[in-house]
Amino acid sequence: MLSKNKLLMEIQLIFINYVSDEGLAKTTFWKFDYQSQYVYIFSRFFCFLLRTAMIIKISNLSDGVHNYSFKEPVKEIGLSEYFTGEAQADVELKKSHNQIILDAKLTLKANFECDRCTKEFEQTLETGFKMVYLFGKDEAEDTSMNITYLPVDADKINLDKDVRDFAVLAVPMKKLCIEDCKGLCIKCGKNLNEGDCGCEKTETDDRWLPLKDLKNKLNIN
Ligand SMILES: [Zn+2]
Ligand SMILES: [Zn+2]
Repeated sequence: MLSKNKLLMEIQLIFINYVSDEGLAKTTFWKFDYQSQYVYIFSRFFCFLLRTAMIIKISNLSDGVHNYSFKEPVKEIGLSEYFTGEAQADVELKKSHNQIILDAKLTLKANFECDRCTKEFEQTLETGFKMVYLFGKDEAEDTSMNITYLPVDADKINLDKDVRDFAVLAVPMKKLCIEDCKGLCIKCGKNLNEGDCGCEKTETDDRWLPLKDLKNKLNIN
């Protein structure tokens, strides 16, 4: 049997792991440990209880402006690729009797691999979205605007899905470690941001060859 103290210690450890970044990897490792399956199941249950979501309670919310700030591990929102740590959402909500206008500013951290030099780097992504919530049935079939229809008796707004969608949209098409990354030498593969490699750079673009020919001819004449 696992002693009570050891059990408590292990739960504590798992809890610490859970709130840290590599938590999931470490808890998976625990599965191989003796008797830790108990602890593992218990910890998952614990995590389930502690599970947070970006939820705004709107029942009994007075008309006017309300501000909220949320922090949630990216894994909890369902963001895995690139994203790391916690997602932060600063929300301003304006409520009137039949609608809610929500303005969210998002801050997330992501790890990318540079498209030019393949170096890994961390980038803070800032993005946001505006959403209009209308109480009642979806009458207009206009999907061009960020309009969500809420049941008249809706008591909360869960932001997780929108945060996830807009975070994914904020991933840049071109991922560069620095704006003017010099990339790798095509001859020796050295990262040119760390200095010149000494390889001879003969940049001949085939498209310029006819023009070069013409120049030579003109020089001769
Ligand atoms: Zn780079
Ligand atoms: Zn080189």
